[in-house]
Amino acid sequence: MRRRAGIRRAWGAVDVTQRRRVVVVGAGVAGLTTAVVLAEAGLAVHVVAEQIPGVTSLAAGAMWGPYLVEPKAKVDEWSRRSLEVFRDLAGDPATGVRLTSGVEASRTAEAPPEWATTLPDYRPCEAAELPPGFTAGYRFTVPLIDMPVYLRYLLRLLDAAGGTVEQRHVTSPAEAGPADVLVNCSGMGARELARDPGLGPIRGQHVVVGNPGLTEFFSEGTGTSPELLCFYPHGETVVLGGTAVEGEGGLARGDEAAAGILARCAEVEPRLAGARVLEHRVGARPTRAAVRVEETWAAGGARVVHNYGHGRAGVTLSWGCAGEVLGSAQPRRARL
Ligand SMILES: Cc1cc2nc3c(=O)[nH]c(=O)nc-3n(C[C@H](O)[C@H](O)[C@H](O)COP(=O)(O)OP(=O)(O)OC[C@H]3O[C@@H](n4cnc5c(N)ncnc54)[C@H](O)[C@@H]3O)c2cc1C
Repeated sequence: MRRRAGIRRAWGAVDVTQRRRVVVVGAGVAGLTTAVVLAEAGLAVHVVAEQIPGVTSLAAGAMWGPYLVEPKAKVDEWSRRSLEVFRDLAGDPATGVRLTSGVEASRTAEAPPEWATTLPDYRPCEAAELPPGFTAGYRFTVPLIDMPVYLRYLLRLLDAAGGTVEQRHVTSPAEAGPADVLVNCSGMGARELARDPGLGPIRGQHVVVGNPGLTEFFSEGTGTSPELLCFYPHGETVVLGGTAVEGEGGLARGDEAAAGILARCAEVEPRLAGARVLEHRVGARPTRAAVRVEETWAAGGARVVHNYGHGRAGVTLSWGCAGEVLGSAQPRRARL
């Protein structure tokens, strides 16, 4: 496996004479990225999770983009950090990360989000570049992440760094221990594990098809609409989206939703009409007013660091949030 030398150095390392045991609850993109960062920094890391890898993370498209997530200052910092890492990972095909050019467009004259304007190759589109019915759009290059491939890559990185993984349901972070530090990356599970009623699901569905030859992504700026339109090529396959139904957390596939996704995508990209359907993916985006990366204490005295509530942008924020958890998980003395 090609190593990410530059990345490992960037996290710094802990004093190994104080090597502490950290248990991470959750094996979605938040849990696995956090576990990799902690293990590569020298901590003894054990992951406990019911799903390995997390189903919602598997369902993501996924495109780097801090969509509809707060708090802005932190989100800017976390997503920038992740962008650096994803750019580095894109050099290795085994990671599932590709730097891809494409267009985000809208049917109303929407201004581009601020983060898009800072990306390489950013430029407003000419009218002729837009599909029929679209009035504004912009082009940029961004990391696309093939999630099944990428999550397997994270599991291999964790293994290489000495981390271990255990499949188990827990009813509290402490139950996952013993540990000096417990890290709660349980996605929607945090509603129970952190007793957080402010956390709610946004159900999302994707259809995966054989790639009829697409090399560029397309995404419609649809704001908070429940019906999305996007497609992300990942080599042999294309992930077509999507849906975003607030308050719904069920993971059963919706046939009507799938048919709508296929029709919307084929209207914009006729090559997708009749593409062979390979798979349906459904997840529940764990959403709250603001992403929670915060340190608290469990009843028995162990430190608990929460890292959940990433909503529509958990992949985008993953490396930045993991780096912040590392700061909390290190021994106090080492942080002085
Ligand atoms: C359709 C769709 C498209 C998306 N597109 C993008 C995108 O393009 N870009 C982007 O950045 N983000 C995207 N997202 C959002 C992103 O997928 C999520 O924010 C992210 O996956 C959340 O990761 P997580 O690790 O917190 O949760 P999960 O992946 O849900 O992982 C949670 C983990 O915790 C474990 N767990 C929970 N409770 C317990 C318990 N009690 N005991 C033991 N284990 C437990 C689970 O088993 C699982 O392993 C998309 C999401 C969806 C659904």
